[in-house]
Amino acid sequence: MIESKPTSPFADSFGRQISYLRVSITDRCNFRCVYCMPEDGINFVPRPEILTYEEITEIVSVFAEHGVRRVRLTGGEPLVRADVVDLVASLKSIPGIEELCLTTNAFLLPKLAEPLKAAGLDQLNISLDSLRAERFEEITRVGDLERVIAGIDAAIAAGFESIKVNAVVVRGFNDDELLDLIRFAAGRGLIMRFIEFMPIGGDTVWGDNACVTAQEMRQAVSEAWTVSLDPPTGKVAGPSRYWSVSGDGLPAGTKFGIISAVTECFCADCNRVRVTPKGGLRACLADDREINLRDLLRSPASPEDRRVRLATAIESALFGKKEKHAFDLDGGAVTGKRMHAIGG
Ligand code: SAM
Ligand code: SF4
Repeated sequence: MIESKPTSPFADSFGRQISYLRVSITDRCNFRCVYCMPEDGINFVPRPEILTYEEITEIVSVFAEHGVRRVRLTGGEPLVRADVVDLVASLKSIPGIEELCLTTNAFLLPKLAEPLKAAGLDQLNISLDSLRAERFEEITRVGDLERVIAGIDAAIAAGFESIKVNAVVVRGFNDDELLDLIRFAAGRGLIMRFIEFMPIGGDTVWGDNACVTAQEMRQAVSEAWTVSLDPPTGKVAGPSRYWSVSGDGLPAGTKFGIISAVTECFCADCNRVRVTPKGGLRACLADDREINLRDLLRSPASPEDRRVRLATAIESALFGKKEKHAFDLDGGAVTGKRMHAIGG
């Protein structure tokens, strides 16, 4: 029997404590967004290689013992995985997990919003890159804008108090929709967030200049409306910064956010790691090195020994976590895998 150590919070070698875990539960998806997946010829992870719900629960509980308080389920599209509601209920019951979140394209929310809420899901991020039906179809290759909007409305009706709508902003594609998207979200009492396009996995269909910078986004919104950093220090938990915005026809209290992953990097405050569908622990989105937790989970050992081994493996991955990512505006992709296979 391996001697169990008293649990201490997971931290990396730069002293950053890990309190947030993102778990990609599938690399499959019902959309084929052009920046995330190729149209066809995808080699999906064979099902036996994908972590089972029991394995995911075991990994999350080890993280929870070591200070993780917030978990996000992502993918691929997490809602295409069978019985995802059961997984939500099981993760929610893990001692220490205070906030359980999920990122989705919303296509299946008309059916699943209520059961997810009832199972204990706390928060939703919903992706919506365009409000124009044709563009939406172009970007998602299969998407159905009306159904996604119905999914957002189903989430509101189910009583989710925290819903954020996210759009990746791409030059020449949807950068003329910032104001419409802010209006759309504000009209439903939600916060719109814009994400800088990241050079993840493979050639991007838009070329090198696709990333609209945070600075450009702020400028575009402030040309139309009055914008002020909120809070004025810009300090909030997480990678977004928020602005209050007032102007023509906007409801009082309208805000929007920007996730400036590329040009105004927030790595100094990074508190997160990721687990891929195959159980690869990735200390950084932009670093292809992964530690295989699945093989540890599947090797014969007592439950207690397995937990110690998992914790030791996680500590070694954290030890290798780099100080910052290597995104820049003119370099090529920094990862071999596409976003759907990592978990955005
Ligand atoms: N299927 C779900 C969805 O679309 O919300 C969850 C997985 S998806 C990979 C998570 C997020 O990553 C989405 O908001 C998507 O727009 C974003 N994403 C994918 N590729 C990206 C890229 N290259 N740069 C920035 N964001 C990206
Ligand atoms: Fe699917 Fe989300 Fe990737 Fe679009 S961004 S292909 S919805 S995983």
